[in-house]
Amino acid sequence: MLDPLGLFEYRVVLHVHSRYSDGSEPPEAIIAEAQRAGIDVLWLTDHDTRRAAQEPGAGYYDHLLFLVGAEITPPTNHYLALGPVPLVGADSPLQTVIDHVRASGGLGFIAHPDDPGNPAARLPSYRWSDRAVDGFTGLEIWNHVSDWGRQIQSVPQGIRAALRPFRGWPEAAPATLAAWDAMGQGRRVVGIGGADAHGHHVGMWPFRLTIFPYRASFRAIRTHVYTEEPLDRNWRTAEAMLLESLRLGRAAVVKPALGDEQGFRQWAEHSRHDPVAMGSEQPYEPGWRLRGLAPVPVDWEVVHDGAVVHREHGTLLNVPMGAPGVWRTVVRRGPGHEVWIYANPIYMR
Ligand SMILES: [Zn+2]
Ligand SMILES: [Zn+2]
Repeated sequence: MLDPLGLFEYRVVLHVHSRYSDGSEPPEAIIAEAQRAGIDVLWLTDHDTRRAAQEPGAGYYDHLLFLVGAEITPPTNHYLALGPVPLVGADSPLQTVIDHVRASGGLGFIAHPDDPGNPAARLPSYRWSDRAVDGFTGLEIWNHVSDWGRQIQSVPQGIRAALRPFRGWPEAAPATLAAWDAMGQGRRVVGIGGADAHGHHVGMWPFRLTIFPYRASFRAIRTHVYTEEPLDRNWRTAEAMLLESLRLGRAAVVKPALGDEQGFRQWAEHSRHDPVAMGSEQPYEPGWRLRGLAPVPVDWEVVHDGAVVHREHGTLLNVPMGAPGVWRTVVRRGPGHEVWIYANPIYMR
């Protein structure tokens, strides 16, 4: 049977800044752009404030679900907090921030863990430096702004990149993916993808340029979240459903610029067990198979404990999981074989 789990898929854009921190537009304008982009959920994460939860307020705006988290931002160790959590000061140690978000019932993700900074633009690195911490939900494995910036090593390169901001931006940082696979040996570590949308303007009229207009950022990197039931029309219930699915790792990181179809699925099945979804932790035994389904023919890469162990082209994936470990897929698409999707792992213990 195709897609035996029958999950519901939602296109979420998270990690977005408004004028309440360093974004260029008020939340109302960003909501309007998100509605035009046709996404399902906009998750605003201003630096160290959840002010937008009051004004204009979280909830449904027609079909768009607007939710408000925050990015807690000390000089390094930025932390994305999702859920209705009260914020602690950004001067707290990262472990304190993590524990507080968790105790308040929220989810937390290490933002852009290997942010390179940029010597050419004199931007410092906002990388994850305090690696001794634990208790976070997961990692932002792909961040549009941070990963785009990795290709820029000089001012001329920066100007060229700013003029063509959606050309050829890199894949997720190899160091981040390696850390993700390594940490997954011990526990579930959920990968999400962030737009890090600011709508930044640079220069002055008439040479003003908006490097990443919100509209474009909403097509850069999304996180698709899978739920067992359709999202509730009560927005608080819907937020709780999304948080639960994210906590369980039922999510895939998608680059919609390569195609914004829904329909990607990854699961594992066994003749003597019920199928299990992305993010599941399962006792290993022989006979489990990793299954995938794509809405168009794609290039599948099966990654086991950080190494690509299988490649295949098509709409269906069906490979034996021959050993315990962290199993996930990378889906490439189009003539350039660019990464379209990073799926969350299934953990065979
Ligand atoms: Zn940040
Ligand atoms: Zn940010």
